Amino acid sequence: MTEAATLFSEAKRVIPGGVNSPVRSFSGVGGTPVFIDRAQGAYIYDSEGKAYIDYVGSWGPMILGHAHPAVIAAVKAAAEKGLSFGAPTEIETRMAEKVIELLPSVELIRMVSSGTEATMSAIRLARGYTGRDKIVKFEGCYHGHSDSLLVKAGSGALTFGVPSSPGVPNAVAENTITLTYNDSEAVAELFGQIGEQIACIIVEPVAGNMNCIPPVPGFLETLRKVCDQYGSVLIFDEVMTGFRVGLQGAQGVYNIKPDLTTLGKVIGGGMPVGAFGGSRKIMEILAPAGPVYQAGTLSGNPVAMAAGLATLELVQQPGFFEALGAKTRRLTSGLQAVADQAGIGFTTNAVGGMFGLFFSAKDKVTSFADVMQCDQERFKRFFHAMLAEGVYLAPSAFEAGFVSAAHSEQDLNSTIEKAALCFKALLK
Ligand code: PLP
Repeated sequence: MTEAATLFSEAKRVIPGGVNSPVRSFSGVGGTPVFIDRAQGAYIYDSEGKAYIDYVGSWGPMILGHAHPAVIAAVKAAAEKGLSFGAPTEIETRMAEKVIELLPSVELIRMVSSGTEATMSAIRLARGYTGRDKIVKFEGCYHGHSDSLLVKAGSGALTFGVPSSPGVPNAVAENTITLTYNDSEAVAELFGQIGEQIACIIVEPVAGNMNCIPPVPGFLETLRKVCDQYGSVLIFDEVMTGFRVGLQGAQGVYNIKPDLTTLGKVIGGGMPVGAFGGSRKIMEILAPAGPVYQAGTLSGNPVAMAAGLATLELVQQPGFFEALGAKTRRLTSGLQAVADQAGIGFTTNAVGGMFGLFFSAKDKVTSFADVMQCDQERFKRFFHAMLAEGVYLAPSAFEAGFVSAAHSEQDLNSTIEKAALCFKALLK
């Protein structure tokens, strides 16, 4: 038995499925998950000391690379002063000011401890603000695991083929209307029928939980238009895209202003953090300023705020996102070239520091249906071949990949060289 297999069987004895979040178990690709011991820069190291070039980055947060010295120093300094007080701290205000400075659509912001909490709270706020119950989401988009949002969801819910989980009451699911991502006509049609009953639309402005699907031109514009017309709240779930696809998130890239934005991942710099914010008139109805209740024992935790603030200060440096985007494009174009040379049907998507790899005969993958038609068996073999070569990709065909500022030219070239071998091996 390998050490990972031993650790996994020990874990399975005491943790459901051996993991604390489903996709980590490798169920989407088969085999035994790698157990991580430590990480530095672009690399993670497993329990046996093997190094991997990491394109998961803790599912997005590690945009600076792992264990960045400035972030670690900020965390150590904060921890020395105590881990949690359950009372206001100055750093929470500095963090709020920083996000408000960077995201023009955000006038007030509330910190929470995960992306799930952020989206769940934003939905409650939208319902409280509009006095309406129905919400609209898109198939394959994942917004965390709260009941209302676990309907036709992406990420692990897709990997496991359980788009609607047992335990979600029908009465709750009935109020969630699911449409097709990038289908503007369906959105306009639905709002034409029952727009006055819809509290909000929640959308991943670049979908990252059914692999990586950017919005087609006009899609986000349509969402903005119908929400304005019918008095519904437009929520951009930027838990993944926030400070990942650009300094102003996807809302900056596509130049659309949502009413509410949810954040997570990068704003925590690797610590458990989420946030939701938006226009003053909506955010002001949140407790204690207003009647919509929301709270958290560890919300705005000082150690987490220190990690997040240190991260945001670094991604704010001039040229950061230009360099990150160039690295991501270098990776995807290099992979495309070697796949073409090998004669493998393959295509990619990339926005900022986020990318998608597809084993598809199509030139472009732009919809949930396209993703579902990709060759998942090929992906699984490619994943394991790359893992053996020392490249850690997301262990599922339905997840986006992430490049960090720590990935060097050499790391990217080495990844492409290894992929060339793995693509060839797929034909055997
Ligand atoms: N929203 C999006 C777009 C996400 O990608 C995720 C997690 O991957 C979430 C929400 C949930 O965040 P968390 O896992 O921190 O609860």
